[in-house]
Amino acid sequence: MPLSLYNTLTRKKEEFQPLRPPVVGLYLCGPTVYNDAHLGNARGPVVFDVLTRYLRHLGHLVRYVRNITDVGHLQGDADDGEDPVARAARAQQLEPMQVAQYYTTRYRHNMAALGCLPPDIEPQASGHITEQIQLVEEILANGFAYEINGSVYFDVPRYNEQYRYGQLSNRVVEELLAGTRDNLAGQSEKRSPLDFALWKSAGPTHLMRWPSPWGPGFPGWHLECSAMSRKYLGPEFDIHGGGLDLMFPHHECEMAQSQASDSHTPEARIWLHNNMLTVNGAKMSKSLGNFITLDDLFAGTTGSLSQAYSPMTVRFFLLQAHYRSPVDLSDDALQAARKGYRKLMNGLRLLPKLQALLPGAAPGGDEGEIPTPPGDAEVQKLTADLFAGLDDDLNTARCIASLFNLLRKLNTLATTPAALASVSPAVLTEAAATYATVVTELLGLRDEPRANAEELLSLTLAFYTEAKTAKAYDKVDQIRAALKGQGIVIKDTKAGVEWAYSEE
Ligand code: ZN
Repeated sequence: MPLSLYNTLTRKKEEFQPLRPPVVGLYLCGPTVYNDAHLGNARGPVVFDVLTRYLRHLGHLVRYVRNITDVGHLQGDADDGEDPVARAARAQQLEPMQVAQYYTTRYRHNMAALGCLPPDIEPQASGHITEQIQLVEEILANGFAYEINGSVYFDVPRYNEQYRYGQLSNRVVEELLAGTRDNLAGQSEKRSPLDFALWKSAGPTHLMRWPSPWGPGFPGWHLECSAMSRKYLGPEFDIHGGGLDLMFPHHECEMAQSQASDSHTPEARIWLHNNMLTVNGAKMSKSLGNFITLDDLFAGTTGSLSQAYSPMTVRFFLLQAHYRSPVDLSDDALQAARKGYRKLMNGLRLLPKLQALLPGAAPGGDEGEIPTPPGDAEVQKLTADLFAGLDDDLNTARCIASLFNLLRKLNTLATTPAALASVSPAVLTEAAATYATVVTELLGLRDEPRANAEELLSLTLAFYTEAKTAKAYDKVDQIRAALKGQGIVIKDTKAGVEWAYSEE
């Protein structure tokens, strides 16, 4: 079965066909870097990581772009709010780029901990001002924008005459207008409340501003993604992703900009949106103040959860749901995820044991009729099922359920010689290899350090003391030698047993 993906733009599942094979272009809206990433921010990158891994597995040459927003994304997604990067810089007496760099570095650490492969290109909005100005000029020349007081606004009503504003998010301009009528109040320089900034003029006190044909200013938030995706993936590319909360206005505006520019495309062929992460039913967001940062989650320093959860437990937690379903966060859900993750890891540990149980290769020479072993069909079906879920709109929940089904079978085979004899070694080897590939390479789940080194060391020292008291000197020597191999020496002092780093 070929891979199909749900396209928000057409509102249906579509068989995936690359626009320009063998290359597949992916773009995911990245973080706005003025504070630490929270768990809700991680869902899109984890989903897109699995998508990238799977497309590569299928033989595509993926170019994955995920941007860094370091300018232009104003408070409340509005056109007149404060820039949070500039605000943080002002408050802490830093250069805005210091703030952006600091949080970008932390974001990359978080993503690496979660097992997300780095994007191929990670462009920053502030590094692509020229491309953004170029895009504004095209939109102005095509008659879909206007300049006023050094700012440039996208003309939504004019655009809507020719295209359909609201096409992506399934909104109707008249209804959107009705919703904004109250706060028009005549103070805005925009012609229509639906119009959005492509370029905002900025006075000398503004920390981040650049020269432009319309005077000093900075780009509107939506502009960077249209400009940078075009630069690195072309005027139309395969898949654009992001959270559902970005669908409107951000992605709707991106699409309008690309359509109104010289690209004349809806930017991406497939628009893919992951659902939200909720906490007790409410969306996790910085603005609602109910967010849990990834660092706090990994360290167990959140007020709302009882303990720490490892990055791989968190990754499993995000993948155990289909990306289009909401996920609700709780201690119970995370503990269940930890159990599931460990079960998959135990499965990885079972594979070499299973391999060792297999008989050696049959003596060659006799090419006569060999009946198919009766257990082959079931194992082959369970193995094929692992991909059925991924092919069906990247349903990782289904894929994980299939992994558990296959694992149950492999466990039975490992403990029941008669069952093992009913499956041909080649089929079993294939099943085991596929299990490992899907868990580690496609879902990106890896084994984590199993134990706390500090605790293991004090336990070993306790055994050492016990052996010494019992005058079991062979054991004492054995423990000394084992620790020495780890670069640690045991010291018997008057105060008791201590350890030190070996200085040899
Ligand atoms: Zn974006």
